Amino acid sequence: MTGFDKDLLRGKRVLITGGGTGLGKSMGERFLTLGAELVICGRRTEVLAQTAAEFRDKFGREIQTLRCDVRSPDDVEAMLDGIWQQAPLDVLVNNAAGNFIAQTHKLSARAIDSVLGICLHGTAYCTTGVGRRWIADGRGGTVLSILTLSALQGGAFTVPSAMAKAGIDAMTKSLAVEWGPKGIRLVAVAPGSFPTEGAGSRLNVGTERSTTDAGSALQRHGEHHELANLCAFLISDLASYITGETVVIDGGRRYLGGARAGVAEMLSWSDEDWERRRAQMPARPNNSAT
Ligand code: NAP
Repeated sequence: MTGFDKDLLRGKRVLITGGGTGLGKSMGERFLTLGAELVICGRRTEVLAQTAAEFRDKFGREIQTLRCDVRSPDDVEAMLDGIWQQAPLDVLVNNAAGNFIAQTHKLSARAIDSVLGICLHGTAYCTTGVGRRWIADGRGGTVLSILTLSALQGGAFTVPSAMAKAGIDAMTKSLAVEWGPKGIRLVAVAPGSFPTEGAGSRLNVGTERSTTDAGSALQRHGEHHELANLCAFLISDLASYITGETVVIDGGRRYLGGARAGVAEMLSWSDEDWERRRAQMPARPNNSAT
């Protein structure tokens, strides 16, 4: 149940980078159910082919798959030429990323470059390549970029990713202005925790992934359909007056994190725990909780 018209994205041709796995795959599935025409890319052709086969079985629809390493401007140009040979895009979703936890002072230049290469440079190559074609064709379009909370509030131990995503946030706001008169919208989402195999294997190393999420105000992880629905809305004509915005979807994690120390812990206190603390508070004339 999405509440959307089943033809919300009919007539829109959408490229999702890294669309063979994880959140990119979930977004692709939702966009297909809403009538979009889908193109996905990534480095592993077998992963792309498997996703395309799953979608074919489920929806009886063919999607275009293209091998592309977004770190390479030549790869990106060849991919976009291949796409445009069939039909121009209406939407680009910058989703491909690489990230892993590390002590920043121990990162090699190669490791830093690898993360920046995929997230920051890859997104810049795809966005400018698509934008250049839209402007040459005199047509509008929408760019949606998948950021992360750390783009907005920093990300200790994932610093290159936080830097790259903050750069994409700046790109979104800047190009919204520069390309607005040409009918091109740029929007972004900053997700909190949405379990995927990719993120889990590199970000939750050595820790048991809990089904609940004490770090979010809603006390749970996000579900893929929740992110996919937000993204479907943002790339649709329902959002035609929204540009330059980054929408946070994190179950309140940002505000919980920003709350003063101890608030996360207080969420799990029982009424008895609260009573005990209240009784321990020094009595003052105006210190009434009622
Ligand atoms: P994922 O499954 O690992 O997705 C990453 C995708 O990017 C893969 O399909 C991968 O395919 C592709 N990719 C990586 N390097 C590439 C390259 N050089 N060129 C082309 N494609 C490349 O992880 P995910 O969790 O779904 O993440 C998707 C997006 O959501 C990312 O932007 C991530 O930062 C963001 N995000 C996720 C979470 C979360 O909780 N899961 C939270 C915040 C933000 P190949 O390896 O085959 O290339």
